[in-house]
Amino acid sequence: MGLSILSDEENAIRDAVRTLVDKTIKKNSAQFDQTAQFPRENLRLLGEQGYLGMVVEEEWGGAGATYLAQTLVVEAIASVDPATAVIYEVHNSLHIEALWRYGTVEQKRRWLPKLCGGQAIGAFAITESHAGSNAAALSTRAERGDGGYYLTGRKIFITSGGEADQYLVFATVDPTLGERGITAFVVENGQPGLSFGPPEDKMGIRASRTSEVVLDRVYVPAEQRLGAEGEGYRMALFLLDGGRIGIAAQGVGIMATALQRSLDYARRREQFGQTIGRFEAIQARLADMATDLHAARLMTYEAARRREEGPAQRTLFAMAKLFASEKAVLHAADAIQIHGGYGYMREFGVERLLRDAKVTEIYEGTSEIMRIVIASQLLKDYDLDNI
Ligand SMILES: Cc1cc2nc3c(=O)[nH]c(=O)nc-3n(C[C@H](O)[C@H](O)[C@H](O)COP(=O)(O)OP(=O)(O)OC[C@H]3O[C@@H](n4cnc5c(N)ncnc54)[C@H](O)[C@@H]3O)c2cc1C
Repeated sequence: MGLSILSDEENAIRDAVRTLVDKTIKKNSAQFDQTAQFPRENLRLLGEQGYLGMVVEEEWGGAGATYLAQTLVVEAIASVDPATAVIYEVHNSLHIEALWRYGTVEQKRRWLPKLCGGQAIGAFAITESHAGSNAAALSTRAERGDGGYYLTGRKIFITSGGEADQYLVFATVDPTLGERGITAFVVENGQPGLSFGPPEDKMGIRASRTSEVVLDRVYVPAEQRLGAEGEGYRMALFLLDGGRIGIAAQGVGIMATALQRSLDYARRREQFGQTIGRFEAIQARLADMATDLHAARLMTYEAARRREEGPAQRTLFAMAKLFASEKAVLHAADAIQIHGGYGYMREFGVERLLRDAKVTEIYEGTSEIMRIVIASQLLKDYDLDNI
């Protein structure tokens, strides 16, 4: 029957992608987590099945679907493999979307079909060692020369760094201009001067590679600049707004699995001569988990529906991310608690929910930054009827 707040097409996509990920991505998920193996085949599969670049029009290789449809795909993937979900999220919401929104016809023709088909993976590189939450403080330089630019700097914590085929790199053409000097460039893997650090050894989402991206006078022709000089920071903020909806969906997917696993166990596990699901303390936890899941879903879907309203709805996007990510962490811990000692054992796969959930409170804007975004709007002139 599906969810009444989704269109028939969105419900059909939701059903189809859930079936697909259960049959495919779920199989290798635990093993890839253990070995930190990059799941390139998952991206290829999602491309073949038409789930990459879903909002992009068909003429560029996309599906012409709604932003909400793409958000439903993130949620479904995250419910079985949050590592693939973040690779997917960055590839779609931060890389493909940048080229789609800001690229020239020539740039779209050159890059979008293979990104939407899964033959190429895209990354997003803004963070630097001293420029995290305050990305505007970045210092990677773009010096003009030879009909293009020479990029020099070091980006850290880059999802798919070393695995991706192309990188959206943010650099400044003039550090004295502050955020008005920040400019975006597409750098292709293999360009001379581009190298990568080893994969970071992470707590969770271990199959997603996170690495340093080093640019040592990488020459980028002017045709690989995205948008005008100085527009990069505004573009990054717009893209991260959408990315936050995707991270909220990642949280929702993790919450859904935490609840499902907890319910299955509560129905089965017996202590004191009855199933633990008969104990009120367990019931209360399950009831709260289900209520939060429902709320997080509605917030995330509403945010996705309103994506096209752009920065005007930044508060809703931030609220969805803040709520879903913090609840995902809490619910993952609840799921461990409901499983007792077994929940703490790697073999059971429940502890992984917590390891994978934690980062949703950190990347694409920490919870602290989400609260700043929300509160600053509230204190300006926020229309409370919007909430
Ligand atoms: C697994 C992973 C993948 C990532 N992938 C990417 C990627 O693909 N591309 C990319 O560019 N970046 C990526 N990042 C970077 C990520 O976006 C940053 O880590 C994040 O924005 C926080 O920056 P920071 O780590 O420098 O923390 P900091 O900004 O140093 O923050 C440290 C602490 O201070 C708090 N804080 C900072 N400023 C304030 C303030 N004004 N008020 C109150 N508290 C504040 C923060 O909330 C946090 O608790 C990734 C990070 C991780 C962990």
